[in-house]
Amino acid sequence: MKKSVAICYPPLDTKKGIPLLGQNRQFQWANDPWYAYPVVPAYGATMLHKAGFSVSWLDGIAKEQTYSTWLAELIKIKPDIIIIETKTPVIKYHWKMIEKIKSKLPQSNVVLMGDHVTALPEESFKKCPVDFVITGGDFDFLMLSIANHLAKKTKLCAGIYYRQGKKILNTGKFKLNNNLDKLPFIDRDLTRWKLYAYKNSNYIKTPGTYTMFGRDCWWGKCTFCSWTTLFPGKNFRVMSVKRALDEIGHILDNYPVVEIMDDSGTFPVGEWLRDFCKGIIKRGYHKKIQIDCNMRFNTGLTQEDYHLMRKAGFRFLLYGLESANQETLNRLNKNLKVAQITQYAKIAKQAGLWPHATAMVGYPWETKEQAQNTINLAKDLFKKGYIDTLQATVVIPYPGTPLFKQCQKNNWLKTTDWNQYDMRMPIMKTTMSDNQINALVRDIYNSIWTPQFVLRKLKEGLTDWNKFKYYVRLALKFFSKKLDFAGF
Ligand code: SF4
Repeated sequence: MKKSVAICYPPLDTKKGIPLLGQNRQFQWANDPWYAYPVVPAYGATMLHKAGFSVSWLDGIAKEQTYSTWLAELIKIKPDIIIIETKTPVIKYHWKMIEKIKSKLPQSNVVLMGDHVTALPEESFKKCPVDFVITGGDFDFLMLSIANHLAKKTKLCAGIYYRQGKKILNTGKFKLNNNLDKLPFIDRDLTRWKLYAYKNSNYIKTPGTYTMFGRDCWWGKCTFCSWTTLFPGKNFRVMSVKRALDEIGHILDNYPVVEIMDDSGTFPVGEWLRDFCKGIIKRGYHKKIQIDCNMRFNTGLTQEDYHLMRKAGFRFLLYGLESANQETLNRLNKNLKVAQITQYAKIAKQAGLWPHATAMVGYPWETKEQAQNTINLAKDLFKKGYIDTLQATVVIPYPGTPLFKQCQKNNWLKTTDWNQYDMRMPIMKTTMSDNQINALVRDIYNSIWTPQFVLRKLKEGLTDWNKFKYYVRLALKFFSKKLDFAGF
């Protein structure tokens, strides 16, 4: 009989909000949730299905189920293998959940994957009856390896932890050497793509979907970035331009998608990007879709490159601004000069792109005055019209990151209660109180309200219905974000 596998995002019964977990580099509980398509698990589901396994996609969070409804569905399916993606702020919830699942489904093998268990793989074996832990970010190839091992007794790939009696064994350090051109096109029906096609503030038009042509970021060295635990930059891989274009073609042929968010940590640049843009234009895809992606300010891209991107249908570019203080950028290993933030945002905007910036506060070394510099820069960028949107967060040192190690070395951690690592309160000791940091996050959001910016957006919204709807959605999101940081 076919072995069955369930890929799971269990809902959590808590008053904190909705956990934004899958595909998210920074975890947050949200009052007004949005759903990112978990691309790597979706490749995994497709590979398992193609290999003859029966696959259930049980994202109870995106389905907006209660925990009990989700659990009842899981128990009814009785999967042989239950795979759960986890992150630091929810790991303790998942440990309890795994105990419950194993008591109801003792024959099922439970697998955990994610950045937290990559950093601390053995911890979860001590805290709960989990059977396997996947380390590294190639969840897709490794979940297939575990399923094949259980079904056909094949050898496990490197990067997997498992139990043998009372011992916890592993297959060695994970290797990120799988060829991305060998991936199948994602089966988006199997992985319930519509759950993620509408409630996502990155899209101006819907339905939208996600791709991930690179794993994950060609820089991959920022000290706070949780996904460098899964994908250290030295292992950066990208699929061939042809393979990437073919996947877009496959999406357009099979789904009514009008916008694509490529969620590679940083989109590939240089020759790859230019060939990709020319290919999109040659195949005529730019007439059917818009593309959004993550980008860095300091890429060497020229005004001409940005124009080419715009011509190829790129729209929304997400940049990590992080801080307007050079000392902070250096300490974070951003490889970025403060002046380059304005320089690159300006040429992206001049090409007609929509730059979005993310900023953070709560660095142990930053004073209130220095944090104010970040607010001032955000305000200036909005005023000049160089960025359209902005997201502000409190920096969290996730286990596995160089920042977490620095915290341990310098005694900066306030707690190692993982439940607290959810961006609701600063985890690192700073020169400011929690309430002051909270107020700074709100000040960054408030920086949007320059009269020039509001007037410009009102004008744009009145001439374009899609933009009008988008700005209404953003305004709601803006107030919801302020609520998220209303008080620690
Ligand atoms: S540039 Fe972005 S994705 Fe890349 S390492 Fe830095 S924070 Fe992470």
